Amino acid sequence: MSTIASHFQCYCGSVREPGALLSSWNFPIESEFCHCNPCRQTTGVLGGTFVELKGQPSSLDACTRYARPGGCVDRYFCSTCGTRTFDHNTGSRKWFACSGIVEPSPAQDVVRVSIHAFVADTKDGGLSRPMRQLGGRKIPCYAEGVGQEMTDEDIDAMSRHNPESPEVDTLAASCHCGTVQFRILPPKHDNRLDLAPWLGAEGTKYLGLYCFCRYCRLGSGQSLSVNTYIMPENVIIGDKSPFDYTSYDKEAKVKSTALQDAIPGLRCYASSDDVRRSFCGKCGASIFWERESRPQVVNVAVGILRADSGCLASEWIQWDWKKIWWKEGAVDKEMVEALEKWDP
Ligand SMILES: [Zn+2]
Ligand SMILES: [Zn+2]
Ligand SMILES: [Zn+2]
Ligand SMILES: [Zn+2]
Repeated sequence: MSTIASHFQCYCGSVREPGALLSSWNFPIESEFCHCNPCRQTTGVLGGTFVELKGQPSSLDACTRYARPGGCVDRYFCSTCGTRTFDHNTGSRKWFACSGIVEPSPAQDVVRVSIHAFVADTKDGGLSRPMRQLGGRKIPCYAEGVGQEMTDEDIDAMSRHNPESPEVDTLAASCHCGTVQFRILPPKHDNRLDLAPWLGAEGTKYLGLYCFCRYCRLGSGQSLSVNTYIMPENVIIGDKSPFDYTSYDKEAKVKSTALQDAIPGLRCYASSDDVRRSFCGKCGASIFWERESRPQVVNVAVGILRADSGCLASEWIQWDWKKIWWKEGAVDKEMVEALEKWDP
């Protein structure tokens, strides 16, 4: 299917480009799935796919550039809504778009993943294990860039040392540049019925879920968003939580925005009357997603978590691999199928 009828855009629409800017003529476009730390920690997702462009996008004025020290990739995000938009490899001078902002018409798979790269950065294999098979193809995995291919045993071994429970008191979270940093306390259930749907089976872990909806996709710049759900009073900024659940007043709408106000450098985008998305103003990482009418939990982007065990933070998060939000709207159905078939 031709790429000409597609377009790409950020969540707020400040960044908008025609599909003719894509260097491929047809969908799906071959892409590596990059699991490296910068890709994970500047998107908030567990890795990313990118599609090559013919040249420099015209809407860079609407974007903020993040160049990490010593890196050869400049990363861009929308200055208004935080969507991760483009990458520029300053060595090869090639431009890429984050594949999640591409909207094919009619909807179909945007990318065909060809390899999993930089799997070693995940420490636990991350999404390379559930996405080892995509569309019937076995996807080669590499610890770093292309080199010695990893075996199934290599990848399985990465996840085997996962502790069942945390060895530290708090879970650290940080975007790639370190502007946004906080810590998360373990869940306290306290028999609060309003929390039951947001915790793992025993109430001792948080819950991890995927969403393929258009809004999450445009928000993160990737095909899927990967979230966990944290009680805002369990988010520690400095040495305490700025959110006091006991004084929360639903009628007065005193809410978890206290978190956003407490972190300098965090930028917010009100994507609807009820929802605020926040991102790092320096590197663009997705951080929180808050719904005013659901103040008991705040979504935290899993890609910014820094658990000892690896990017899935399995000692803190119980993954429900079968429960996938908005798979009907997915632009990368191969990824949905792989997650649904995955039996850890
Ligand atoms: Zn935008
Ligand atoms: Zn990368
Ligand atoms: Zn940052
Ligand atoms: Zn979503």
